[in-house]
Parts: sequence; structure tokens; C-alpha cells
Amino acid sequence: MADVKIENAIKRYGNVQVMHGVSVDIEDGEFVVLVGPSGCGKSTLLRMLAGLEEISDGSISIGGRVVNDVLPKERDIAMVFQSYALYPHKTVFDNIGFPLKMAKRPQSEIKEKVEHAAGILDLTKYLKRYPKELSGGQRQRVAMGRAIVRDPQVFLFDEPLSNLDAKLRVTMRVEIKELHQRLKTTIVYVTHDQIEAMTMADKIVVMRDGRVEQIGAPLDLYDNPANTFVAGFIGSPSMNFVQGRISGQNGTRQFVSDGGLSLPVPETSAADGQPVTYGIRPEHIAIGPGGVPMNVVVVEPTGSETQVFARSGKDLLDAVVKDRISARPGEQIGFHIDPANVHLFDRESEQAL
Ligand code: ADP
Repeated sequence: MADVKIENAIKRYGNVQVMHGVSVDIEDGEFVVLVGPSGCGKSTLLRMLAGLEEISDGSISIGGRVVNDVLPKERDIAMVFQSYALYPHKTVFDNIGFPLKMAKRPQSEIKEKVEHAAGILDLTKYLKRYPKELSGGQRQRVAMGRAIVRDPQVFLFDEPLSNLDAKLRVTMRVEIKELHQRLKTTIVYVTHDQIEAMTMADKIVVMRDGRVEQIGAPLDLYDNPANTFVAGFIGSPSMNFVQGRISGQNGTRQFVSDGGLSLPVPETSAADGQPVTYGIRPEHIAIGPGGVPMNVVVVEPTGSETQVFARSGKDLLDAVVKDRISARPGEQIGFHIDPANVHLFDRESEQAL
């Protein structure tokens, strides 16, 4: 087990710089998820940690040792890829034991470690099978087994669940989290899926365009997003954003959108007339008599909850409620917003106010 320190990491491909000084501190035993849209640099950062990509500038240390120039196989890390990268002509046993065989470990040790890993991953029954005789989830577990037998200081996961169907992804998510609770090994995990990040991570690193936007515990990011990017990326369905200004008219301060919609605001240092982006999560809007009058556009029942899209002038807001809503398109309903749940962002800098 080891801590990992990434300091001011920079990556250039020829003249093109794709990573602009990324710093992340990962504690020993922590489960850290790098998340962000495609192209934000998360795989590149993971590959730099693994030693598969050179670091153009800055430093990476694992367990207190700077590894910038250390070969991948000497970094004491194990990586699990999206593609599993299993050997089709080797059995599950031989796939899992492969790194130990390459390291010329004695047969007795290989057997002991493979059986131990198979036990952890519930693969004992399948040791004699070939990859093509396994389900997607079982193949993924074999790939994890191959990482576990190496007993590395750090596990690196590169979008390991993206080839699985939605139901299996949820199951594997739980398995990987449980595995971490059992092994307590430091994990760095890359995904573009914010739900995976939220449910698995001790700490999330949100990236965009080769930069870190925010680092924090899942619920910290949800409760206190630093800017509109993180606010819109974390949480599902996404936060509603409305452009407008703070208005101090009629004695009470409120938000008035560019389209004229008035919404309640919390205490804020924003000045009267200041252009702001108003953010409210769909699940923080209640529906009932009174409130902000909105015209229903679409009602989407999912059984456990109802998502209601409603408009006022040009402004469209999305609410998710536990109740079943019978309103029809065009009908007027009331949206209720507790100011305590409102996020205000500077319109120019996009930073939280
Ligand atoms: P992500 O994993 O977040 O989707 P990547 O780390 O794969 O993003 O890529 C980050 C950026 O680096 C992207 O703009 C991508 O086009 C660029 N990039 C990745 N690999 C190379 C390469 N070998 N040569 C040039 N640019 C690359």
C-alpha cells in the first residue's frame, strides 16, 4: 500500500500540450476516481501513473519515491483495462497466474495466490474455463484477479466497466467497492460516468481539458460545486441553470432571469444587478399549489419518481419528485424552491459565489 502524489504534471505530444499542471494527493488506501468528459486527460494521467506515458514536466511519486523515470514493471502497480486483455488460449487459472509466471515465481506460490484471488472474486469454480466460456462480468473479475495476485501498492483501473451492460455495471461497481474495503489497497480509477464516481470514490477528481476543476468527497462536490462545470457534471439528472440577474426590487432580493422569471435566492454577496447563473437541482424542486407558476411541457414517470419539464417563457426547468404527477402538457403547476438549495455562479467566471 502506498500514497500517490502527482505534482504539477504536464503532458505534451510534440508541440501540443494536453495536460496543464495537474496536482492530486492520494492517501494510502484511498479510492480515488478521475472523472470527466471524453478528452479531458484522465486516461493520459492514469497512463502517466502507470509509466505507459512519459511525464513531460512535474513529478509523480508512489510511496514517497519519485517514479518519473521508473519503468512500469518496477512501479509496483497493477492496471486493469477496459478491454480486460485476457489471453484467449489460456485458462482462467493461467490468466490470473500469468504475472507470477512471468516473474518466475515457484509453482506452489502461483497456485496459492491464484486460488486466493479466485476465492476473493468468486471464480474458484471457473479456474479451468477459457475466457470465451465466461460472462462479461466474470472476464472482468479474471482481469482483476490478475491484478490482485501481484499484490501491488496501487491498483489502476481504466474504465473497467464500460463494456458491460447497465445491470452488470451496477453489480461490478459493488464488487469493486467491496474488494477495496477488503484489500484496502490504494485505487486510482478512471471513468467518464459520474454515477460510478459518486458511488465508488472516497475522493473524486473532476477534470476538464487537461486541468483539475475540483477535488473532493462525492457529497462535497454535490453540495458545494466550485463552478458551473462541476455543478452540471455531478448529479443526475443535471442541475438546472438559468441566466439572469440578482434584483433587489420590492424590498426582497430575488433572481430575475433574462426571460423575466423570478426565483428565490439565498443570502448572497452578489450585488443588485449582478449577472449570475442560477443553479437548482431537479430533485430540489417540489411541486404543489402556489410557488413559481410553470407550464408543463413533458411528464416522464419512471415508477419510483416523476420527472417534470416545465416552462415559463423561454426558461425551462426540470423537476424530479417522488409523487406521481397527473398534470398534462400545457397545464400550469407550481414549482417550490427552498433558497437554501440554490447555487449562484458568477456568469463571467462561472465560479460559485
Ligand atoms: P480521456 O481519457 O479523458 O478521454 P485522454 O487522456 O485520452 O482523454 O486524452 C487527453 C487529450 O490528449 C485529448 O485531447 C487527446 O486527443 C490527446 N491525446 C491523447 N493521446 C494522444 C497522442 N498519442 N497524441 C496526441 N494527442 C493525444
